Amino acid sequence: MMNLVKTCTQVALHFARHTSLAFSLHRLLIVASLFSLTACVSDTPPDVEAPKITIVGAGVSGLATAKRLTEAGFDVTVLEARDRIGGRTWSYQSNTGATLDLGASWIHGDFAPFEDLAKQQGIELVNTDFENLLIHNSEGQSQHLSEVDTESLINAMQIGVGLANLMGGSASMQDVIDKSWPLLALAGFSRELVDFLVTADIEVSSAASAEDLTVRSYLGDIFAMIIPSEQDESIDEEEERSKNLAFPKGYNQITDYLAEGLDIQLNTTVLDIDYNQDPIRVTTNQGELSSDLIIVTAPIGVLKAGDISFSPALPDWKQQAIEQTGSGLLNKLFLEFPYSFWDQDPDMLGITQPEKGGLALWVNMEKVTRRPTLMAFSAGRSAKALEALSDQQMVDLAMQRLVQAYGKDIPEPINVTRTRWAADPFAKGSYSYESLNAGVLDSLFLSLPVKARVLFAGEATSIDNGSNVPGAYETGLREAERIIEWYR
Ligand SMILES: Cc1cc2nc3c(=O)[nH]c(=O)nc-3n(C[C@H](O)[C@H](O)[C@H](O)COP(=O)(O)OP(=O)(O)OC[C@H]3O[C@@H](n4cnc5c(N)ncnc54)[C@H](O)[C@@H]3O)c2cc1C
Repeated sequence: MMNLVKTCTQVALHFARHTSLAFSLHRLLIVASLFSLTACVSDTPPDVEAPKITIVGAGVSGLATAKRLTEAGFDVTVLEARDRIGGRTWSYQSNTGATLDLGASWIHGDFAPFEDLAKQQGIELVNTDFENLLIHNSEGQSQHLSEVDTESLINAMQIGVGLANLMGGSASMQDVIDKSWPLLALAGFSRELVDFLVTADIEVSSAASAEDLTVRSYLGDIFAMIIPSEQDESIDEEEERSKNLAFPKGYNQITDYLAEGLDIQLNTTVLDIDYNQDPIRVTTNQGELSSDLIIVTAPIGVLKAGDISFSPALPDWKQQAIEQTGSGLLNKLFLEFPYSFWDQDPDMLGITQPEKGGLALWVNMEKVTRRPTLMAFSAGRSAKALEALSDQQMVDLAMQRLVQAYGKDIPEPINVTRTRWAADPFAKGSYSYESLNAGVLDSLFLSLPVKARVLFAGEATSIDNGSNVPGAYETGLREAERIIEWYR
């Protein structure tokens, strides 16, 4: 019964986040889904004295669950497919000795408990101000973000959101841009600048192209990362928005801390979870094992690909949520140079093109790596296209962009490191996003256990903070607490 009450509370909270949505057929479908959920929350966990618990994945969420449960005295084993822990946090030592975070780099915004965790471990954090952005356009002019009339931009885009919503549930962020374009043009914006700002602020943070993002996520707040959407926001809110804390010695300091003393089996890929019987039978590439409970933290891309099979198949409400949730793509290209040739003041650089494409948003990583390092993002469809380029083609493209901004006398990079998160078999993407056919309750459905045997954690299962590390961490603690409550 407690579970039912908890679930209903979660649902109410979820609705509260979407209060601006008009009442629709969609909501009726949600109510229907909730009836099927009551069956799920009335399941009872295995009636054993000391349950054996298996966790799939040693990323932040899996490690957080394992640490909490181990501390509470449970018998926990973590199975990790890779030969390393950390998952989508990956602090890579380059040939030059620089630490490059190939996955997550920053604690974005205010996640006080997570920030405290880092500080308590004595981990050094350095701020990157995403709003301190200098934009170089294709005509050789440059302009700081603070010189852009963001108020007019947001007003026009808000009208675009309203117009796009009239199109119904399938409206995309690209529809918003198209609808607001006449107003933006009247206000003197160039298409090149608008496209860049959308890439820099929306596509990079969502890991998806404007064409693939539902407008529903942006009803209240179009821009999230660099552009203030409320002109009268408080100083605290302003500070929070420009707070992005990076780890000069790598994000994996956090995962190393979480992993201390845990039973983690690396190179162990989970292939099948048979939860039709007690205990559950788990098939891996290293053999079979049994477990009373299993917590799946594999990324949404892996779940969507069906790389872990479930016997019996997952119930419709869970499977549908998996299918409807987007698996986005954000890639990074690090170029290390013999010396820096860019201004040290802006933390961020924009290099815009008449045609929208990747490698438009760059970060001056020198403050973080303490070496002359630039990093370029690519997101969504253009990231997917760029993954197909050879390393040399990628460097050529990056150098073309930098020559556009700084002239041809710049040095060649001494070290190049790039990511291909879509091709990574144990990620199959970078993080979740709200796709065009997303259901309002997908993240809630992703978070709920099946038969009180198979539990789910990981960034995509976070109701409030999907896509980021602190959110993933919270989901790990959430599932640990669920089990602790079951066996209290
Ligand atoms: C390029 C990039 C930049 C990002 N930037 C930021 C940022 O700046 N700030 C931020 O907060 N977040 C950022 N993120 C998102 C953040 O990295 C993730 O949200 C977070 O790390 C997810 O943690 P998780 O535990 O949910 O998943 P993961 O870290 O992916 O952990 C899941 C684990 O499961 C393992 N696994 C997969 N399949 C199997 C299997 N079959 N058997 C066994 N193990 C399996 C994987 O190897 C992995 O270790 C970024 C992500 C990327 C890719």
